[in-house]
Amino acid sequence: MDFDLPQNIVAKLVELDAFIEAEIRPLEQENIKFFDHRREWARTNWEEDGRPSDEWRALISEMERRADRAGHLRLCLPESCGGQAAGNLMNAAIREHLSGKGLGLHNDLQDESSIVGNFPIVPAIARYGTDEQKVYIEGIITGERHLSFALTEPNHGSDATWLETRAVREGDHWIINGRKRWNSQVGRAEANLVFARTGGKDGEAKGITAFIVPTDTPGHTIVMNHWTFNMPTDHSEVELDNVRVPNSAILHKEGEGLKIAMMFIHENRIRQAAASAGAARYCITQAVKYAKDRVLFGEPLSTRQAIQFPLSELYAECEMVRNYIFRTAWKMDRQDPATFSHEVSICNYAANNLVCRAADMAIQVHGGLGYSRHMPFEHIYRHHRRYKITEGSEEVQKRRIAHTLFGFGAKEAS
Ligand SMILES: Cc1cc2nc3c(=O)[nH]c(=O)nc-3n(C[C@H](O)[C@H](O)[C@H](O)COP(=O)(O)OP(=O)(O)OC[C@H]3O[C@@H](n4cnc5c(N)ncnc54)[C@H](O)[C@@H]3O)c2cc1C
Repeated sequence: MDFDLPQNIVAKLVELDAFIEAEIRPLEQENIKFFDHRREWARTNWEEDGRPSDEWRALISEMERRADRAGHLRLCLPESCGGQAAGNLMNAAIREHLSGKGLGLHNDLQDESSIVGNFPIVPAIARYGTDEQKVYIEGIITGERHLSFALTEPNHGSDATWLETRAVREGDHWIINGRKRWNSQVGRAEANLVFARTGGKDGEAKGITAFIVPTDTPGHTIVMNHWTFNMPTDHSEVELDNVRVPNSAILHKEGEGLKIAMMFIHENRIRQAAASAGAARYCITQAVKYAKDRVLFGEPLSTRQAIQFPLSELYAECEMVRNYIFRTAWKMDRQDPATFSHEVSICNYAANNLVCRAADMAIQVHGGLGYSRHMPFEHIYRHHRRYKITEGSEEVQKRRIAHTLFGFGAKEAS
């Protein structure tokens, strides 16, 4: 067995580093208020219900334009979308590497924008969309025609198959009624991918249909924006009141909507895990460096076992988790991940849990400075804390592992 990253991946990481230094770092330095202690204030339009400010969005768009011009942004997308179908191992290695560099415009945490783009819905539209629907592919990549994702509801999150939104056929149209929660980026979206039950029973995956609903359709209303631990925020509550869409709004097939979400669930979970592992590595490295420099009671802080042991434990865990993530991503490139979904869940919950503890320890080792916004750890903690809830919460990942371990439960990933 060969545990080294393949040469093409190592070379790509070097190439990305050179690109960041040449084209992204200077832009970041010119706009440093978005990254230093003022970051939350600078990025947020407090008068617009805490949404990302136009200036912040414009800066991210410029980063993405530069990355696209250099051939990096679409690296992991299918070739039909101008991508290079780089695969899960390449994607995981890049996510880990970019997060391991700390905060920066190359890999924004709050927006999940990066020089190598995160566009989970794009491959699903490429695979299931009609020609008419495929116009969203380029729009999502360039940010000009964003498509948001509306599955979660006020009464149903982890148990999405119990959703209450209903769509009823009326001739060659559908009438949708319900309410969506945590509808990220719907505020800047041209259309919303709304999941509604059109058949089957509560709790069944079959019978849920995905509709592409233009956000200016009468009855589609953003009611409020949820303010979050990490600001700015773009996660709205949406009311669907007799929203009328044609049959052609269905993405994929009637009653088969959840297949779309299932298509990218594993890719999203491994990507998230790799980002968390990289951020954990960054927090541990920075804490070790500071402990060596900081002199307390006449000696470097690093000489104290009370500092060495927890950092050694985090380091050991980080090494194991990173290697398990790379091995799982490698396997995903060779075998349908649905057949080893629990292994992806292990990566996801372990890495997301680890990074929160690593960021907390980095805050502790840095003392009062660690608690300040002049250091990046509070921001890393606040962002990655979210991953213990979204994309399948920590408990949902463990539930998936238990299904395999004890041999019961649904076959599909939840
Ligand atoms: C910042 C952010 C962005 C988001 N963006 C989107 C988006 O764009 N589109 C979208 O559709 N959704 C989005 N979500 C929603 C996200 O997917 C849900 O928050 C998540 O699925 C959890 O659902 P919930 O919040 O309703 O919690 P619940 O499902 O109510 O769970 C509450 C708690 O119970 C635990 N739990 C659940 N089931 C079990 C069980 N069987 N055993 C033990 N414990 C259990 C959960 O892990 C959790 O800790 C977003 C959420 C956040 C915070």
